[in-house]
Amino acid sequence: MRIIMLGAPGAGKGTQAEKIAEKYGLPHISTGDIFRRNIKEGTALGKEAKSYMDEGKLVPDELTVRLLLDRTAADDCKKGYILDGFPRTIPQAEALDTELKKLGEIIDYAIDVEVPDENIIKRMSGRRACPKCGATYHTEFIPPKKENICDECGEALIIRDDDKPETVANRLKVYHEQTQPLIDYYDKKNILHTVDGTQDVQDVFKAVTSILE
Ligand code: ADP
Ligand code: ADP
Ligand code: ZN
Repeated sequence: MRIIMLGAPGAGKGTQAEKIAEKYGLPHISTGDIFRRNIKEGTALGKEAKSYMDEGKLVPDELTVRLLLDRTAADDCKKGYILDGFPRTIPQAEALDTELKKLGEIIDYAIDVEVPDENIIKRMSGRRACPKCGATYHTEFIPPKKENICDECGEALIIRDDDKPETVANRLKVYHEQTQPLIDYYDKKNILHTVDGTQDVQDVFKAVTSILE
């Protein structure tokens, strides 16, 4: 099963992708997480990606596509995967389709997690991330058991560099211009499903699983 998560930054794609990954035993592939790991490790890829990410811009397609296809070629992706944050542009979607065609594979579901811009600002301002294991929390909606400490691994949580209000506004603009057209792209392929992302996490997940079952 190959699944694409669509939605604005902060809509809850990562939160849902993590739950799908656990339930169905599929790898959760987040291009944002891969970039952040490279930044932390100080790789050349990380240095290049950071300059775009800090401004709320997209990392260039060529670099992103290469990175993604490299990841989906790994052994653990043979049974399928969940893409979270990829594709984000029409050229990325086309590059993925070209590769899948070569392999005789298809995307089974594109799930759009729908959340209005007003709610997004609130979600992103309260987002806290674990720099060690990547778990995501929200100060108000999904607080960790111990304030500012990761439930999974005990690390101190951080605010992502690109979750500052100025950057968030930019990312939303980029989303509407470059990523939202993908909704139509996958609708035309008859694999688009929409869920109401304003519900609480468990209810969004119920809606997601009813699509996948
Ligand atoms: P969010 O969780 O807010 O949707 P991500 O972690 O997916 O954010 O992405 C963070 C940043 O990484 C993006 O703002 C962008 O700069 C970069 N990025 C992630 N995925 C892509 C992609 N598919 N194409 C281009 N840039 C990307
Ligand atoms: P994305 O991957 O789309 O950028 P995240 O999964 O990181 O989004 O979620 C963004 C923020 O909103 C995080 O702080 C997360 O804990 C919180 N969040 C996710 N889903 C919900 C929900 N259904 N209700 C309230 N807050 C949520
Ligand atoms: Zn952690």
